[in-house]
Amino acid sequence: MLDVMAGIMDCVVIGGGFAGLSAAVRLASRGARVTVVEARPTLGGRANTFADPDTGEAVDNGQHVLFGCYHETLAFLATIGTADEVWFQQSLEVAFVDPDGRRSTLRVGGLPPPWHLIAALVDWDALGGKDRWSALRIARPLRVAVRQLRGDSRQIAASPGETVENWLIRNGQSARIREMLWDPLALAALNQNPRTAAAPIFAGVLARLFGSDPRDAALGLSKRPLLELYAEPARRYLEARGSSVRTGASAQVAIGPDGLASVWVRDERLDARAIVAAVPWFGLKALLSGDASPALSRVEGSLADIVRRASAMEASPIVTVNLWLDRQVVDAPFLGLPGRSFQWVFAKNGASGHGPSHLALVSSGADRLVNLSNDELVRIALDDLTRALPEASAAVIQRARAIREKQATFSLAPNQPPRPATRTPVANLFLAGEWIDTGLPGTIESAVVSGHRAALEVERYCQPH
Ligand SMILES: Cc1cc2nc3c(=O)[nH]c(=O)nc-3n(C[C@H](O)[C@H](O)[C@H](O)COP(=O)(O)OP(=O)(O)OC[C@H]3O[C@@H](n4cnc5c(N)ncnc54)[C@H](O)[C@@H]3O)c2cc1C
Repeated sequence: MLDVMAGIMDCVVIGGGFAGLSAAVRLASRGARVTVVEARPTLGGRANTFADPDTGEAVDNGQHVLFGCYHETLAFLATIGTADEVWFQQSLEVAFVDPDGRRSTLRVGGLPPPWHLIAALVDWDALGGKDRWSALRIARPLRVAVRQLRGDSRQIAASPGETVENWLIRNGQSARIREMLWDPLALAALNQNPRTAAAPIFAGVLARLFGSDPRDAALGLSKRPLLELYAEPARRYLEARGSSVRTGASAQVAIGPDGLASVWVRDERLDARAIVAAVPWFGLKALLSGDASPALSRVEGSLADIVRRASAMEASPIVTVNLWLDRQVVDAPFLGLPGRSFQWVFAKNGASGHGPSHLALVSSGADRLVNLSNDELVRIALDDLTRALPEASAAVIQRARAIREKQATFSLAPNQPPRPATRTPVANLFLAGEWIDTGLPGTIESAVVSGHRAALEVERYCQPH
């Protein structure tokens, strides 16, 4: 269909993260000629890789986990040829070390949903008899959430003003099962404390994970640094099709007297029939300021409102502490550490053998940690690790690096402004980014869904009427 765009359409995508690159790749795959403009010197946005200043080793800005239900992300990776670079479990299996140091494994098998989850909870030896009964009570709201996801809104799984914690309590989930499973899962999926995150989006996450194919809940880890998983392969894909990528180029969008948007990089105007702004919520105002701002108020339907709401959105931080140890101390690809400041530890270079190891300890919803010093962060991470795995105390720490991402994701608190749609009041300007109204939390999948949607809208706009 879009071959019709070949030769007649130049499209500019602003932002070289998952959203922008997936939009650009989708457009290029349909015959469009795309220019991606990225302000930073490297691609990747909030899912990026940097060279460690001490060793030159490629280190990600934080552990990124994928799930089997990331269908659009997997389609994007398949297009750029890297889907096989993600290692996936067969179905969800997570080992946890509880706050008292007891280890247990949750295994979600192959029964039809939701029995696969219920059976796993009933089998899980981290739970006592009462907790198991309480776990069964999640089946009903889960069924409602699955129906809602399929478009049946006669009943809602959670009300908009309700927090995740209230929702779990209302649905009979005991303190133990919340601490051991739902809180770490909510923190990982929403990057926000269950006491402040809104319940409906969490119910939607559970429906996606546990509502159909058991493989949807399987966890996936990239075998390569993020730059090599998607950013550079996407660039190669684009360049091989006559599209281009410009890094170190900060773009501005202006709105002309004809009511259409144009893109500028310093004094140069880029040829663009359609523009996808795939910048974060906190970058939209700067993108549209300068020449664009007087024109914003002239635009019917008010692009200015979208900018105002984006500027009012709050952020939720993630802190990662990377530890390089002289030996292996974690015998699984990752471990859940419920009830601690750092809720997960990942073995970055495998979990077998006797050589040195690189661990990434992750704290999601890290408001309490994000302003601490590097030394304090490393101390807390080490403390969490050695309390969970006492044998780790014998390891020698060769290096440590803390990474703070203050604006890792947008807040999912119930009082936040509504998220915008892909189309804007400016006919040739489209929005992408994980914060667009995809119904998903701030994840890679949300970014890619938004990118693919933006590509589709550009396609519609460019089709001859
Ligand atoms: C530490 C960390 C861990 C995470 N873990 C997970 C996880 O486990 N699983 C998961 O699914 N998600 C995770 N996420 C969330 C995920 O990384 C983001 O949702 C996703 O990367 C957002 O992609 P994006 O393209 O929407 O935005 P971004 O990645 O922010 O990309 C936007 C790009 O636009 C550029 N830009 C801004 N303004 C301009 C301008 N004027 N001109 C040109 N370029 C501009 C920026 O430089 C940036 O590169 C994590 C995030 C962080 C920070």
